[in-house]
Amino acid sequence: MTKRYSGGCACGALRYETRSAPIFQNHCQCQDCQQRSGTGHGSYLTFPDRTGVTVTGEAKTWRMTADSGHDKFQAFCPTCGTPVYLTFAAMPFVAINAASLDDPGQFKPQAITYTLRAQAWDRVDPALQAFERMPQG
Ligand SMILES: [Zn+2]
Ligand SMILES: [Zn+2]
Repeated sequence: MTKRYSGGCACGALRYETRSAPIFQNHCQCQDCQQRSGTGHGSYLTFPDRTGVTVTGEAKTWRMTADSGHDKFQAFCPTCGTPVYLTFAAMPFVAINAASLDDPGQFKPQAITYTLRAQAWDRVDPALQAFERMPQG
């Protein structure tokens, strides 16, 4: 039986739902995530294929080049500004912002990425596997 993940932005105009299983769940301390979140890291559940995720409502997106050199598209709600998910130019993945879940307790972080960019004041669970950058795969 597959779990269902659903969520959306703070005002409720942008929603998503999926029954696929996340392939990676992480806290990311890269500079992009710091700037976009306004704090020390972003937290994501990455799903293997965006066609498996149903989005309702209108997202605005903007494109940026990640530290890895890959382009990604940040999707947010134009009404309330909440970042909800991101997609990638070269990969079918969709990464959902963990706290946008209706039940954020479904987020089960496995790893911390980009620890080389971490702020000293941003301490994340030291029991998690830590990567200086983004692991391959
Ligand atoms: Zn909204
Ligand atoms: Zn990041």
